[in-house]
Amino acid sequence: MIRYLLCVMGSVCCFFSVTSHADSLDTVQPRIVIVIDDIGNNLAQGQAALALPGPITYAVLPHSAYGETLARAANSLGKDVMLHAPMSNTKHLKLGPGALTPDMSETRFKEVLNNNLDAIPFAVGLNNHMGSLLTRQRIPMKWVMDVAKSRSLFFLDSRTTRDSVAWEVALSEGVPALRRDVFLDNQQSVASLRQQFIRAVKLSRQHGYAVVIGHPYPVTTEFLEEAIPALDEAGIQLVSAPALLMLQQQTALLAEIERELQSTDPQPLSGCDLSDGHQCE
Ligand SMILES: [Zn+2]
Repeated sequence: MIRYLLCVMGSVCCFFSVTSHADSLDTVQPRIVIVIDDIGNNLAQGQAALALPGPITYAVLPHSAYGETLARAANSLGKDVMLHAPMSNTKHLKLGPGALTPDMSETRFKEVLNNNLDAIPFAVGLNNHMGSLLTRQRIPMKWVMDVAKSRSLFFLDSRTTRDSVAWEVALSEGVPALRRDVFLDNQQSVASLRQQFIRAVKLSRQHGYAVVIGHPYPVTTEFLEEAIPALDEAGIQLVSAPALLMLQQQTALLAEIERELQSTDPQPLSGCDLSDGHQCE
């Protein structure tokens, strides 16, 4: 399968280098973030997901049977951990413990979210589990960002609905934020996983990065065991979610400095140079 993936990714690479690869991206190595959601209910599947190579990010369900154990194990392996916060969905699917719902008062909402975060050691960010109902509502999303900001966490919008406002609210509240680009395993077949993975590769080449979400299904773990090493061969860097945010912040800062340098009028050279503090004669 690796050979197949490399072949396809190679052709993707050639395609974009000839046709639509923006000049500004030519010097930037494309990056992919892979987040594995729903960690915590199944120990064996969680451990198999933790054994995947590279800086995968793990989103852990609060108050789940093995969430805390797996979060600690992830941290000891040097992997980043996030809270996978259960939020109301339009299909009335069961949310499990720590659910955030639209009928909660602000105080109760923040209390539940803080308890969820306290239950996941080493969490450096959070994303929504389900949430197709709640993430389209600005007020509860503002409360999520208040908590994220107070604990210096980033937010990943899993985008379980196209009407989600979570990412926008995060940005407007000054919370570092990412959006999911590709769900890897909505269909649990190798053919579909491969198709979605290649979509992520293409997006990373077009935009410089792509954010992928998968789940600890055995078919997904087995697929990623082979696909992750192939990323390196294709010249794509796998980075954790917080690492991508840090890189984006560095790039934005450099661009800002560059803009300021360009907008500053160069001073005409005079007969003396005050830069060393000496006075002009
Ligand atoms: Zn989930």
